[in-house]
Amino acid sequence: MNNHPTTPVLRAFLRSLSVADAGLLLHLLECPRCGRRAWKELSPRPMRRRPGKAHPSGPDSGDAPKAATPPSAEPLPLSIAELCRNLARERRAERRTDEALALFERSATLYSRTGLPWEQTMVLGELAGFLLELEQEEEALAAFERILDLGSTAADPGLAAGSTVGIAGRLAALNDPLEGRRLLALLRERLGRRRAARQRLDLIRSEGLLAAFTRQEHQAEKSFRDAWTGYLRAGAPGHAVLAVVDLSALLLRQARGTALRDLASEVGRAFRGRDLPKPVHNALDKLLPGLDPGSGSRPASAELLTAIAVDLARALSTLSAVP
Ligand SMILES: [Zn+2]
Repeated sequence: MNNHPTTPVLRAFLRSLSVADAGLLLHLLECPRCGRRAWKELSPRPMRRRPGKAHPSGPDSGDAPKAATPPSAEPLPLSIAELCRNLARERRAERRTDEALALFERSATLYSRTGLPWEQTMVLGELAGFLLELEQEEEALAAFERILDLGSTAADPGLAAGSTVGIAGRLAALNDPLEGRRLLALLRERLGRRRAARQRLDLIRSEGLLAAFTRQEHQAEKSFRDAWTGYLRAGAPGHAVLAVVDLSALLLRQARGTALRDLASEVGRAFRGRDLPKPVHNALDKLLPGLDPGSGSRPASAELLTAIAVDLARALSTLSAVP
């Protein structure tokens, strides 16, 4: 790999980046070393450890202010995917709309190439939110459709995790529940033509999440119930459990102990005797005793539900990578 930019050239590029600077952008996309340099240039000092990577890159005594340890080798486009996302946010803030849109796209593509569907979902959600702000409704719906197309590789941890980055979270951010529901209905119409049962269930769950985020408890409860029973019938027990966790979080928020106990026995019956993947089985084992606390088990807390939802969503994205 030749033509590594000098540091002043790199800095100038990062200050003024436009998608017209194709040569250097392409170099950054191809060259991991310069990608890391660019990431470092862009990151404020205290944030130089890359977000989203909890693992320290080796033994780290931590205290001494020392030169940052060189980042360990990482999948090639990953740092550039983050770079593109950060630049997209900058360009968005600067109202450089076309560049921001192109950079969000580039970031989503790179996350896809890196096999990180959840990150890809977040970028697509951000893109959709931006498009809605620009009143480009058609394009925003197309971005949401791409999230739905990712299916179970990008399971939304949902209400318990306070997940505001999925489709429902983006729509809730409009602060206009009616408008949000109208857009979900349009999305459902578009899917209807392709007869995608699982995606329709994802939309029902999104309706529940949107309703829960906007404090329409009754609608939320109905949607979550439709979602979990629907997923179970459709042979998606992991997603069924995620919707059960959504419903549990809703009932817990309303302090409805009896409804939680009823839910536990209903869910227990529905899943009994099924051959479940291990992470789904584990999630149920943690969830059900908390919903119906008897001797020796403690009532489910919001923290427990969050942990179950996040672990299960992560496990599902790995599981579904295996056919
Ligand atoms: Zn280079």
